[in-house]
Amino acid sequence: MEHARNEAATASEASLGTETGGDTNYSHTILIVDDNPTNLGVLSNYLKSYGFRILVARSGESALQKALYVQPDIILLDVLMPGIDGFETCRQLKAERQTRDIPVIFMTALAEASDKVRGFQVGGIDYVIKPLQFDEVLARLNTHLRLRKLTQDVTEQAELFEKMNNTLLKRTIQLETSTELAREVTSILDLDELMNRVVELIQSKFGYYFVGIWLMEEERGLMILQAGAGTRELSLPPRGTNVPIHQADYTVVWVGHQGLYHLIEDISTATKQLPIQDLPAARSILTLPLRLGQESIGALEVMSQAIAAFSDDDILALQALGDQIAIAIRNAEFYKVEQRRRRLAESLEQSSRVLSGSFNTRQVPKRILKELAMVVPYEHGSILLQRENDLYSLAQRSAPGHEQANSSGTPLGSEKIFQRITETRRPVLINDVTGEKEWPLSSDQPLYHSWLGVPLISHSKVLGMMALTRRECSAFTMDDVTMALAFAGQAAIALENANLYDEITQLNEHLEQKVAQRTAELNKAYKLLEQLDQTKSDFINVISHELRTPLSVIKGYSQILSLMSPIGQDEQAAELLNGINTGVNRLHQIVNAMLDVARIDTEVLRPQLEKLELHRLIAEIIDTFAEVKQERHLNLELTDLTPLPAIEADPDLLKKVFYNLIVNAIKYTPDGGQISVVGQLLEPAGEAPFVEILVRDSGIGIDPEHHEQIFEKFYQTGQVALHSSGETKFKGGGPGLGLAVARGIIVAHGGQVWVESEKHDEKNLPGSTFHVLLPVYASPPSAGEERNRDLEIVSQTA
Ligand code: ADP
Repeated sequence: MEHARNEAATASEASLGTETGGDTNYSHTILIVDDNPTNLGVLSNYLKSYGFRILVARSGESALQKALYVQPDIILLDVLMPGIDGFETCRQLKAERQTRDIPVIFMTALAEASDKVRGFQVGGIDYVIKPLQFDEVLARLNTHLRLRKLTQDVTEQAELFEKMNNTLLKRTIQLETSTELAREVTSILDLDELMNRVVELIQSKFGYYFVGIWLMEEERGLMILQAGAGTRELSLPPRGTNVPIHQADYTVVWVGHQGLYHLIEDISTATKQLPIQDLPAARSILTLPLRLGQESIGALEVMSQAIAAFSDDDILALQALGDQIAIAIRNAEFYKVEQRRRRLAESLEQSSRVLSGSFNTRQVPKRILKELAMVVPYEHGSILLQRENDLYSLAQRSAPGHEQANSSGTPLGSEKIFQRITETRRPVLINDVTGEKEWPLSSDQPLYHSWLGVPLISHSKVLGMMALTRRECSAFTMDDVTMALAFAGQAAIALENANLYDEITQLNEHLEQKVAQRTAELNKAYKLLEQLDQTKSDFINVISHELRTPLSVIKGYSQILSLMSPIGQDEQAAELLNGINTGVNRLHQIVNAMLDVARIDTEVLRPQLEKLELHRLIAEIIDTFAEVKQERHLNLELTDLTPLPAIEADPDLLKKVFYNLIVNAIKYTPDGGQISVVGQLLEPAGEAPFVEILVRDSGIGIDPEHHEQIFEKFYQTGQVALHSSGETKFKGGGPGLGLAVARGIIVAHGGQVWVESEKHDEKNLPGSTFHVLLPVYASPPSAGEERNRDLEIVSQTA
């Protein structure tokens, strides 16, 4: 202002042809207004001699004009003038904003009080009386000029103070915004939300016309508007507005590359290109780099509707904000990556969960491609596995809207690239396949420019690769590559597991089949055995019944014959008849035994219970062997069993039991051997009492593997053909029914029988002991229970 005023003064001085004195002290300019030239001249000269700069006017109108242009420091105004008088001139001076502050001193010849008052009323500051006392005029002028100077100083200081206050206020707002921004950015992790909030905050706090954030995307070669905020009447440029990163004449690109701010004070004189054209009210634009240390990631663009709106302080403050914003953006970006990582981990975990379930493993590759699409967007994807020297496609997937009629149209890439990936074990990213030599391009299929290949490695073995394509050029980011690589690691394990799982499943299925087959075979054999057993039982039953009648007939006739003379008296004939009788008796015994077995098998053996003394029963049996004892020098003894209680049993059946056991002992003990029968009472606590009879011999013994089998019917150890035929002869043959009958009878009494023997040894004769347990009080198991037990066994085996 100061500078502008001095220029104007010089200009008006020249044009008005105003007198100027020889004195060079132009510290103050005085406008003297008087219609009397003599007065004017004298006063002017006087004051000039004191170094004042003097302007003169000879009428009120002229004074008003000159005061406006020249802005004198003080005016000496005559009251009585032709035209508008001094009072009116003063009133008009005071009415005009530009001249109102110039002090006016009246020069008046009238000494009346009313004039003085009038002069003060219209805005005069003082008056001097004509004829003028020059020294008084000088004194008053100096006083008022000093006063005015003081007033001016105070005003200037007040203005300065206000200005400082404004700056402080702005600083406070800047600080507030910074703090708020810092607070907000630490709490906002969503990148888009963060950038939107930042521009809104700066725009609303400072009232800028437009605030925008631009970020560089090197891979796409673009500088992109990510967020913008503006005054209400402004229609915002769309998000995603962009300029090529290599065109440095754009402000944002230049700032992004240089890392320096760029200021346009007046848009009409801008030397660089603006990225947004359609901001009609923008006058000054400040573009600041978003710096992260040495690197800058984009630009903060701030526009104002005022020319030269940005002070140095503003630039400093906004740059500080910009630095903060850059850090926040980087953090949010990290968070975004982290979030994607987490999503990746989640999707991997999900797929491995699915795989470990009852999932059909043949679907694993398809599943992998599906899950991958959630992490790395693609339009066509395939999994290729290495088989010997080539790769075959295991699975393919197309994004919706990109399906192709024939899958061969899906661009898989070139053999060379496959080789390179499997050899280097590193991913390959191609931004535009048309730039690749030998890339298979099909004229009838749409072209997919971007291609990404990632190796599938498990246990440091390259299984194959995943190939992804997208239609646009440079569609895959480095982030995509990292994600795909992480995913591939998991996918390879999943694929390998699926393979293993498949093998195990196949093996299991195979085993199961085998087991089922064997079970079926066993069941068949079992059924056959059952049938055979039945046939055998039927056969025994029929034979024994059918043999008994003719045997009885033979026996009867031979007895009659022995009584008839002369045959009965003939010694030779009697011997022959005796032979027939012995043979028939033996046969009878065998047939009876067969009948017993048949009864046992058909469960019609019913003991006729009565009280019996075992000692008597066994003694009687032993007595029948008196001859054999002697003949074969056997020591066959029975210890006293009379202390044992009488038991409830069928005497006829028990006779068969002990007969068979003792006969066996005799048969399998060489001549001169020892056979003893002992017994004891067993009274286990809380159970019914038993008697135990042991038949012990010093014979050839039985191998433990036969201990159970000897109780089966028709079972004999050793070779049947070698047996001698006599019933009580050493190793005399038998039909193998004795023990089967014995066990059948004992079980029918609710008892048990078993054998103890170390081994079969005809030289060292380890001997055998047969144990018989019989309840004192009979409670034979019912036929039904026995049958059920058999049924249970059959159903288990089936
Ligand atoms: P067998 O009519 O053959 O005697 P058993 O059912 O009575 O039929 O006996 C079955 C088999 O058990 C015999 O062939 C024999 O091998 C064996 N055995 C039975 N008792 C004895 C014993 N006391 N010592 C050795 N072996 C015996």
